Amino acid sequence: MTDFKEMAEQILAGNRRALARAITLVESGRDDHRAQALELLDTLRGHGRQALRIGLSGTPGVGKSTFIESFGCLLTGQGLRVAVLAVDPSSARSGGSILGDKTRMERLSRDRNAFIRPSPSQTQLGGVARRTREAIDLCEAAGFDVILIETVGVGQSETMVAEMSDLFLLLLAPAGGDELQGVKRGIMEMADILIINKADGDLKTTAMRTCADYSGALRLLRKRAYDPETFPKAMTVSALEENGLEAAWSEMQELTDWRRSEGHFESRRVAQARYWFEAEVRDRLLARLNQEPMRGAMTAMAQQVESGDVSPSQAAEQLLTVYMGR
Ligand code: GDP
Repeated sequence: MTDFKEMAEQILAGNRRALARAITLVESGRDDHRAQALELLDTLRGHGRQALRIGLSGTPGVGKSTFIESFGCLLTGQGLRVAVLAVDPSSARSGGSILGDKTRMERLSRDRNAFIRPSPSQTQLGGVARRTREAIDLCEAAGFDVILIETVGVGQSETMVAEMSDLFLLLLAPAGGDELQGVKRGIMEMADILIINKADGDLKTTAMRTCADYSGALRLLRKRAYDPETFPKAMTVSALEENGLEAAWSEMQELTDWRRSEGHFESRRVAQARYWFEAEVRDRLLARLNQEPMRGAMTAMAQQVESGDVSPSQAAEQLLTVYMGR
């Protein structure tokens, strides 16, 4: 695979197989593949297409795949092209990916206007972040209108997805007041819309109450500069019965339109680009510590520190001066 121009052209033409191959390339850990991936991404730069990137998080069982299936079909029904990417930091451990089982989104996976990509199996969050960002870039180049980025609500993955999304949705289950405390404040602060799912049947009343509780909690949060008066907000849906999904989409569009007209949409993307640049520099510097020659130099220097020949601070200073200059 060397003809980037051809591959880039196929991607720009919306060729799904070329897109899938390109994502496989950016996911590869091989050095030669990495070089090719960077060249491809560079060839595609400046295509001028922009998708709406929607991050979606929620604990297992809350209804993420059901929601994506119903919501995705609603969007494709409106003629929009939808890509679904998954970020699952635990996939490496469990040996499979959360989207690996296509039956999770049976209808959507058969839809010509939808593209579903399972989570790359990776152990390191930094690697997952880079691959997901690059997959987003590729889907955007391929002309998708909406990119849904799903993650399970564990650890750092929510922050990561929020930092690569234009909108961040948090899916919640109907629950009693006490359980409201279970959602970490930091995660609530990242969300643009809290979606209380399963507002149907016996759970409907509880869902409405949960929604009211969260609306109250949201009012107590500090106002963000990039939000209009009425956001962030909480609402109920039933992904299973496909209720409230149009309303949720309207809210997303309203928020996006407002941010675009106020310049926040672009400025947030600019800030995100900077965030990822800095994150990647940090990641790579840390990775270098575990590679030669740094690794050996550290070990040697550590021995001098242990024997009392040099103080910890002096040793660090000397080491960094040798390898990074002053
Ligand atoms: P995920 O683990 O977050 O992807 O959750 P799933 O989409 O797999 O859903 C978990 C369970 O909740 C399944 O049994 C779904 O049928 C059910 N579920 C999802 N959405 C709804 C809903 O809107 N209403 C009800 N009653 N059940 C739902």
